[in-house]
Amino acid sequence: MFIFRQRPAQPRFPVRPLVAALCGMVLTAASLSTASAQEFINGIRWEAPPLVTPGQTNSDPPSDAIVLFDGTDLSQWKGAERWSVVDGCAVVGKGAITSKEQFGDCQVHIEWSAPTPATGSGQGRGNSGLFLMGIYELQILDSYDNPTYFDGQAGAIYKQTPPAVNATRPPGEWNTYDVFWTAPRFAEDGSLVSPAYITAVHNGVLILNHFALKGDTPFNRPPKYTAHPPTGPLMIQDHGNPMRFRNIWVREFKPATGVQERDPFLKKGDQELPITVE
Ligand code: MG
Repeated sequence: MFIFRQRPAQPRFPVRPLVAALCGMVLTAASLSTASAQEFINGIRWEAPPLVTPGQTNSDPPSDAIVLFDGTDLSQWKGAERWSVVDGCAVVGKGAITSKEQFGDCQVHIEWSAPTPATGSGQGRGNSGLFLMGIYELQILDSYDNPTYFDGQAGAIYKQTPPAVNATRPPGEWNTYDVFWTAPRFAEDGSLVSPAYITAVHNGVLILNHFALKGDTPFNRPPKYTAHPPTGPLMIQDHGNPMRFRNIWVREFKPATGVQERDPFLKKGDQELPITVE
């Protein structure tokens, strides 16, 4: 039986020389790396990073988190007498609530949901706020199809910067904020050494990337820094709307530590080559 096989179309560029060239490049790279098997040694003796067991999902607290609300009660908060817990959610009542625990540099996870059906408009719809250190407001607002001034919408550092994008879910659905906070540093005389920095992710979307805060976040005057202790509470605002919250936890953040035991050098076989600074 005669089987007709179509001849493969001629490639538009010669394959064999290309493959040969690529192999040549790989070989050259391999021989180069063998010839110069050189490793950079930074001379730092690092402490072993502590083990942390992540939550089942990214909403669940990792093993080293301080859980501030897990759906049962608001015992971790001051001022919560006039708030309520309904169906595992904390519901805004009269007045702000303030965490009993204080935090400096930290990671915060919080979930919030705006009332449905949505009522009011602008700043009057689904307004609350997460105050880092009790001072610096990351705005919580029903910003789903609800225009307001941009540096006052959900994910804004209030009156300082809008979020990079608006990732708000419709009212009734759950929004997550994952916040990475660097506390401001003050000198003994109260002057600012370094500002607060915030990185924030809203529903998995990066909205603030290492934003340097200009100070506090009031409505009626420019932001300013006033020296305060290195740690402070989290505060959740009552802005008159029955916002709901769940899954609130915090991780204190400490960067990896190590000791510079010796100057950095290059290791080549048994040889140690000093690094010359140019
Ligand atoms: Mg607010």
